[in-house]
Amino acid sequence: MPDQIADVIVVGAGNAAFCAALAAQESGAHVLMLEAAPEEESGGNSRFTAGSIRVVYNGTDDIKTLVPDLTPAEIASTDFGTYTADQFFDDMARVTQHRADPDLVELLVTRSFATLNWMREKGVRLIPIYGRQAFKVEGRFKFWGGLTVEAVGGGPGLVAMLTAAAKQRGIEIRYQTRALDLLYNGTRIEGVLDRGDGVIQELRANAVVLACGGFEANSEWRTRYLGPGWDLAKVRGSRFNTGDGIRMALAIGGSPRGNWSGCHAVQWEMNAPEFGDLAVGDQFQKHSYPFGILVNAMGKRFVDEGADFRNYTYAKYGRVVLEQPGQFAWQIFDQKVKHLLRDEYKIRQITKVTANTIEEFAQKLEGVNAAAFLQTINEWNAAVRADIPFNPNVKDGRCTQGLVIDKSNWANTIDAPPFEGYAVTCGVTFTFGGLRINTDGAVLNTDYQPIRGLYAAGELVGGLFYFNYPGGTGLMSGAVFGRIAGASAAGAGGLQ
Ligand SMILES: Cc1cc2nc3c(=O)[nH]c(=O)nc-3n(C[C@H](O)[C@H](O)[C@H](O)COP(=O)(O)OP(=O)(O)OC[C@H]3O[C@@H](n4cnc5c(N)ncnc54)[C@H](O)[C@@H]3O)c2cc1C
Repeated sequence: MPDQIADVIVVGAGNAAFCAALAAQESGAHVLMLEAAPEEESGGNSRFTAGSIRVVYNGTDDIKTLVPDLTPAEIASTDFGTYTADQFFDDMARVTQHRADPDLVELLVTRSFATLNWMREKGVRLIPIYGRQAFKVEGRFKFWGGLTVEAVGGGPGLVAMLTAAAKQRGIEIRYQTRALDLLYNGTRIEGVLDRGDGVIQELRANAVVLACGGFEANSEWRTRYLGPGWDLAKVRGSRFNTGDGIRMALAIGGSPRGNWSGCHAVQWEMNAPEFGDLAVGDQFQKHSYPFGILVNAMGKRFVDEGADFRNYTYAKYGRVVLEQPGQFAWQIFDQKVKHLLRDEYKIRQITKVTANTIEEFAQKLEGVNAAAFLQTINEWNAAVRADIPFNPNVKDGRCTQGLVIDKSNWANTIDAPPFEGYAVTCGVTFTFGGLRINTDGAVLNTDYQPIRGLYAAGELVGGLFYFNYPGGTGLMSGAVFGRIAGASAAGAGGLQ
């Protein structure tokens, strides 16, 4: 191809993009990455994460492979358990209500361990998530919820390690360079049209991998596809993921796929800024709600806070809060569970009230009907099955009985002052709808034929997540499909 700048152009510089770029480079391709953000804001949503990655492992030996510098003392004091392929399959099927594409899930699950190990070989260091995913039981740490390892340094660490790995291998990253359109001759992709330094130009390549996120940062598309009210959600991460990759592919006949009206959305600090703040990262989230109750402006509970471990409910409860009057709720705790609150409850940028009596507390919960709230607390305290022991490490079945909305696990009376309330709204993480790909990572057209030279990975792939999402799967999905897309894209130019 005349004036070809690279064999493979990767659009984006988040986790999926880096995995695609590294896989293409490993297959012999000359790779160029285009990143819309300036370097100091680069890395997409991947940089905002905690770096937690869901991976299949069959015991401590597998964890030792992923974390070779684990000390004998750590091994002796930890029960890592297992997270088998069957468990991962079951989690994906259950939380997506059996909608997830079986072929994509098969790749996600069966390649998760090998892919994470491959990332480790490229330079990504991992550690067990002792802080958030393990409780101490009889002197030993016990992991729960299928989420056991994270990148050293969290999301910022992950992006820094991937960036270093790419640069060491001669992969060029052009920052502040936004892909605007695909160059398509009606038969195959020939590159992209991009804008860098205010200049619009054509960049030619054999293949393009789109790894530039969903449309969560585009309030117009959110309202159009997720529905009314979604313009009011706060964006948890990057302001650069405006759906460009999806738009570009659809414009040349790409096929849409998946849960276009669905997204990952969590409970998020009510007064957080419009987009994510890299200095705060994911700490605006408030994920200890399974140990308390949630009330809305009417002073009423509206959801089963303890339906499951937080890993399996947090991604759908943002939507439930958005649906409340005024799009807010208060999370309520008392001193009996305060020690269970995650670190994110200790940051300075927080909307918090405390009081020594429940009556004073009711007055302090801004926007809440105080009388109705007090009635809710009375009914709540009377409904808790205190005869069932409380145990935060398992689904303890300590429920309420007889309420309009009962709580299934971890129910405690609210009677030990000082009481604490934290105001939350909805924070959107990423959108579920996207492009249809095949098992080579190729984007399919509306006749389900591969668009020659076009591949996709990460958030903009549709068909994996519906309604809900098992925590830690976003990074793993980007890694597995990024690696596949990168290798396929390198092959597209006849390099393999
Ligand atoms: C606060 C927060 C916490 C999270 N925690 C976790 C977690 O712990 N574990 C987990 O698995 N997942 C987590 N997620 C979800 C996870 O971030 C995503 O699933 C994953 O990072 C998506 O990776 P990606 O590479 O597809 O997209 P991104 O990392 O968002 O990368 C997209 C890239 O494309 C760039 N871009 C966009 N448009 C263009 C364009 N037109 N041209 C060029 N570049 C463009 C963006 O700047 C960005 O660099 C979290 C998300 C958030 C927001």
